Amino acid sequence: MKNKVNVIGCGLAGAEATYQLSKRGILVELYEMKPTKFSPAHTNPNFAEVVCSNSFKSDELSTASGCLKAEMRELDSLILKCAEKAKVPAGSALAVDRNKFSEIVTNEIKNLKGVTIHNEEVKTIDTTNLTIIATGPLTSDALSSEIAKLLGSESLHFYDASAPVVDAETIDMTKVFKDARYGKGESDYINCPMNKDEYYAFVDALTSAERVELHEFEKAEIFEGCMPVEVMASRGRESLRFGTLRPVGFRYENGERPYAVVQLRKESTENELYNLVGFQTNLKFGEQKRVFSMIPALKNADFVKYGVMHRNSYICAPKHLNFDFSLKKNENIYIAGQLSGVEGYMESTASGLVAGIALANKIHGKSLDILPKTTIIGAITNYICTASSENFQPMNANFGILPALDVIIKDKSQRKLAYSERAIQDIKKYKEQNLC
Ligand SMILES: Cc1cc2nc3c(=O)[nH]c(=O)nc-3n(C[C@H](O)[C@H](O)[C@H](O)COP(=O)(O)OP(=O)(O)OC[C@H]3O[C@@H](n4cnc5c(N)ncnc54)[C@H](O)[C@@H]3O)c2cc1C
Repeated sequence: MKNKVNVIGCGLAGAEATYQLSKRGILVELYEMKPTKFSPAHTNPNFAEVVCSNSFKSDELSTASGCLKAEMRELDSLILKCAEKAKVPAGSALAVDRNKFSEIVTNEIKNLKGVTIHNEEVKTIDTTNLTIIATGPLTSDALSSEIAKLLGSESLHFYDASAPVVDAETIDMTKVFKDARYGKGESDYINCPMNKDEYYAFVDALTSAERVELHEFEKAEIFEGCMPVEVMASRGRESLRFGTLRPVGFRYENGERPYAVVQLRKESTENELYNLVGFQTNLKFGEQKRVFSMIPALKNADFVKYGVMHRNSYICAPKHLNFDFSLKKNENIYIAGQLSGVEGYMESTASGLVAGIALANKIHGKSLDILPKTTIIGAITNYICTASSENFQPMNANFGILPALDVIIKDKSQRKLAYSERAIQDIKKYKEQNLC
């Protein structure tokens, strides 16, 4: 086995993978196209550029993002150590001065042993070399074509248009009915009815809610083939009743028909998450919470993932990825970061961390167990590798993808803390047994 790895892309995932490899004595050839070439969203010549919000989200253990960070600290994440040094006040969130952060990461990477940096765009993949591809949601066109050639063009997506996802435990089941449209087939959906007043209030709130400002490079193609629910609603107050919220084919026991129906569909067989069918949306996250909570059954729902419509290159992970982020087709090649089908700054970093560790273990001939599903990193990995490959959408950190606790804890914040405590215990055990 060669003691050398090519890492392509030095964003959050690539930088983390490079560090994990280097600290385990592996030589790294690191390729980053900046400053020779910039994606439409990148402007800073340094590594690990934070392109949008400067927040890495909450650092509290009562949140899934906080739990994820605790796990990453256990696994000695470079990105988190650098974030601490570039921290700015942001309440319970971990936010950074983005320029200082990138500068610190760049200096750390430049000083790592055995890392050779090439400032060039990689256009082809030599599948005989051990390689981690971490070129992110805006992977250059030439490399995208190469990945599409390797995996099949249907397995590389360029846009993410996903609906919000809620935790089943928080749906008000007294306000739903389970029934198949026209009574045909299995009643796989949870149906959330609305009466006339509720429907009109909802449509009015939806059409006047604040939307995300798209980047120039996204404007041309983003809505091709997939209309946001708020745009459809703005075509007329009744339009949703003839589309996403159509009530036809449903009757209550008393024979009456609901005025409108929102359908919820299970995200995967492994967990209790439901997505709002047909609710691809471009509303701001806070607005999604406000407006979608007007659906009576979702009044107190936990939105574990908000809908997004943005430019995002990612592979169909369930079809192509092993649990260590290597490709099923060619185990020399690993895909990490947003390109692997995870969503978010920390999630991307965590996947780079796992890929780096996995590859180092492989080179050192040490076996590596699959990360426990009770941890956020393990649960996201499990989700992207086992979700349905049809309409696969990226996943972020949330407690809904973890297996249930052995004990029932009614209090929501205590339950979340218990998830985190279990995760940290399990990642510690994993570390002792697996890491070289
Ligand atoms: C516009 C935009 C805004 C986002 N905002 C947020 C946000 O606010 N919060 C959040 O949690 N997530 C956000 N994300 C999603 C995601 O978390 C970030 O994109 C994150 O930086 C992904 O990390 P990464 O390491 O996978 O990719 P990146 O950090 O993008 O790193 C990829 C690196 O690869 C380089 N590269 C690309 N192609 C090549 C090539 N062929 N050869 C060599 N180098 C190459 C790039 O220059 C870049 O440095 C956003 C994504 C986009 C596109």
